[in-house]
Amino acid sequence: MYKRIVIIGAGHCGGRVAEHLRKRGFRGSISLIGCERHAPYERPSLSKGALSKAALSKAALVSEDSWDPESITLLSPDKLAELEIDWIAGRNCIDIDPEQQEVILDGNKRLRFDALVLATGGSPIKLPLAGAGQPQVMYLRTRNDATAIDSQLAPGKKVVVIGAGFIGLEVAASARMRGCEVTVLEAGSRPLARGLPVQTAEAISELHAQHGVEIRTNVAATSFEGTNGRLNRVMLLDEEPLPADLVVVGVGIRPNTELAHKAGLSIQDGISTDAFGRTSHPAIWAAGDCANAHNSRYNRPFRLESWKNAELMAEVVAQEIIKDIISNLEIHLDSSQQYGFFNDQKEQLKDPEPAKETVSLENNAVPWLWSDQFEYGLQTTGFPADGDEIITRIDGDLRIDFAFRDGKLIGAAGLAPGAKAARDIRLVQMMLEQGISPEPKDLANPAKKLKALLKGK
Ligand SMILES: Cc1cc2nc3c(=O)[nH]c(=O)nc-3n(C[C@H](O)[C@H](O)[C@H](O)COP(=O)(O)OP(=O)(O)OC[C@H]3O[C@@H](n4cnc5c(N)ncnc54)[C@H](O)[C@@H]3O)c2cc1C
Repeated sequence: MYKRIVIIGAGHCGGRVAEHLRKRGFRGSISLIGCERHAPYERPSLSKGALSKAALSKAALVSEDSWDPESITLLSPDKLAELEIDWIAGRNCIDIDPEQQEVILDGNKRLRFDALVLATGGSPIKLPLAGAGQPQVMYLRTRNDATAIDSQLAPGKKVVVIGAGFIGLEVAASARMRGCEVTVLEAGSRPLARGLPVQTAEAISELHAQHGVEIRTNVAATSFEGTNGRLNRVMLLDEEPLPADLVVVGVGIRPNTELAHKAGLSIQDGISTDAFGRTSHPAIWAAGDCANAHNSRYNRPFRLESWKNAELMAEVVAQEIIKDIISNLEIHLDSSQQYGFFNDQKEQLKDPEPAKETVSLENNAVPWLWSDQFEYGLQTTGFPADGDEIITRIDGDLRIDFAFRDGKLIGAAGLAPGAKAARDIRLVQMMLEQGISPEPKDLANPAKKLKALLKGK
């Protein structure tokens, strides 16, 4: 039954699904289809080290000129070959036939599937403004986008970033580190409104100001003007035009749901799935940025755009597909001699035992993400922007804003040089996982160790 698994999207999550399927013993065919020509890679460095040329990234440790482009490769072409994963590069999947269980690639190539995983990620939201088609108005999602932006950065260049979210501000910090003059335009009333409490966002704005980045809020770009095919200014609503050599737009992504939509799958801000990544079609799963997965811990679905979510959902989906194979084995065990299913199915798994550790969205899905802003590392867990009360703890150069809602801890954001916030945010994540909500006054007091508060002391 499960001889052919097809994965659409050879990005972070798709690559990991393929890898986990092999790790968990699947021996049937795996096709990994990707529009990009690069083998699966991790995107976070694209707005950090790839542009700043410093090895910022996860550890947020600045060391000039030490960024290695190959460091973001998740599965090299050699590794894919070794794992016998059929990587179909530079091809677009244009349709799914759910009845026939086939996917259709550009050029009309058809591939049958027994299980299909949609790991199609998201696409940057484009600004529908006059002049936005000029080559110096750029977006950042892929390695090629990062290379194109990188080629435009040079000391003294005027860079305008539109959108003061995580990626916009990371691009701003990177461009500034390369000596550009950087202005960030935000249409809303404050930066980072979607992901952070106002207090943490203000601390990050202050950091940008100290480094010479100007963040302007309540400002709307209306068009882009240029001469002789070269951008030279951004037109603003009710304000003076802003000179610009380069514009980078970072106003969010839309989940890539077109294929799922055509296939008649249920969609609601992403492809709707259960807590195991299964869509409304029993043989189709979705994972990563494109998936809106139900989460029993929070008793609601949510769609996360983060590295950790791509890692976790990939593992969960691979595990569930393997479980399906195993339960099919069990169902057919009695009739196996008669129908010959058993031997045939057993062939697909090297070791048809469930993996020892079980991963699940419920147990592991307290959101966590990081961002690097200059020499500072930000880490968040839970839903720090959704609090109705914020408690701040300052411990030397480490700042943590804890978000409470209805008197209960729901998230936190930590900001500190390098990776200094990591340990404390991990402890808060454990509190959230275990439903522990310490007293606000204890969280505000740096003398009270978070480890002790986690243990209820
Ligand atoms: C610049 C940048 C910085 C980031 N920084 C951070 C960070 O600091 N921390 C953090 O937690 N997260 C960060 N993220 C988010 C993180 O990288 C994403 O959440 C993660 O890449 C999602 O993985 P994915 O596989 O779902 O999507 P992707 O990695 O985008 O992969 C989807 C792939 O599917 C392909 N595809 C789509 N449709 C088709 C089709 N029809 N046919 C064939 N192929 C198709 C796409 O071309 C793409 O290659 C960042 C993202 C970006 C872009």
